[in-house]
Amino acid sequence: MRTALITGISGQTGSYLADQLLEDGWVVHGLVRESDRRPASSVEPSPVLHDGDLADAARLDELVDSLAPDVVFNLGGLTSVAASWHSPIETEAVTARPVAVLLDACRRSAERTGRRVAFVQASSAEMFGQAEEVPQRESTPIRPLNPYGAAKAYGHHLVGVYRAAGVDASSCILFNHESPRRPETFVTRKITAGVARIHLGLESRLRLGNLDAVRDWGWAPDYARALALAAGHPGDYVIATGVAHSVAEFVAMAFAAVGITDWRSHVEQDPAFMRPADAAIQTGDASRAREVLGWSPTMDLESIVSAMVAHDVALLGASRG
Ligand code: GDP
Repeated sequence: MRTALITGISGQTGSYLADQLLEDGWVVHGLVRESDRRPASSVEPSPVLHDGDLADAARLDELVDSLAPDVVFNLGGLTSVAASWHSPIETEAVTARPVAVLLDACRRSAERTGRRVAFVQASSAEMFGQAEEVPQRESTPIRPLNPYGAAKAYGHHLVGVYRAAGVDASSCILFNHESPRRPETFVTRKITAGVARIHLGLESRLRLGNLDAVRDWGWAPDYARALALAAGHPGDYVIATGVAHSVAEFVAMAFAAVGITDWRSHVEQDPAFMRPADAAIQTGDASRAREVLGWSPTMDLESIVSAMVAHDVALLGASRG
């Protein structure tokens, strides 16, 4: 039976990855902070959870040593650009440094036991910053614009360094990926939850920042599947849909999903949600992932928005009894 260790298992993509690997018969271990620990799952099989902090290098070493997994998936760390401006030092400690600790633990474990430990890093399109070319591909220059992007860039480069040193290491450059498990700190879930509240008459307005920002939004479970496919296929892979939409278009689709067409009368622009520097047009070219991994996205944006709005309407309806 194959064994995986996942950091960030309690996050959106980590939880989908765990579900998929368990379904495929893997033994799944996950690193969680005690504060993120949820009540034990009643669904069998479930992952084995280990308490620990990503900033605790000795703990990461000990887990890789004792579990000797087939694959380490590193999805942990701060996930938001906004948070990285508030905590640049913590961003380095939990988003950049653990990549070095884990890659080196994989290398040493393979040397000691003779069994290879593959490594898959969840990198981010945020590394491209004001990208020189559209769409972005694996060869696009990396020029981050914020502490989060810089920490991810370090991790991405280190994967290349360890791959050259013989570790089966992959870096999946994930473009934005959304689902009902996204927290409301991200614009997509903020919109779908806000639309659900407006639809149910609990609120009348949605306050947003830059409506012209453009993103390539995919379906998070598809991106979890890409990470699983990359294990044992060392390389860099852009994971994206290749289709860009603006925040305004996302808003229009979300309101349309509950039958509201005059969405502008419900939306206010609030300078508090504008970014000091916002990446320009992010769209990815996932040709390499398609050719080498056989990966392709299964959902277009309209289906993603419908699924998220339906989930939020049901959730809010249920909580009101
Ligand atoms: P990111 O791409 O990882 O930073 O994901 P987000 O979902 O946080 O942001 C996506 C885009 O939406 C960015 O260009 C934001 O500037 C833009 N945006 C516009 N209004 C908002 C808002 O109210 N909240 C957030 N989080 N982003 C917003």
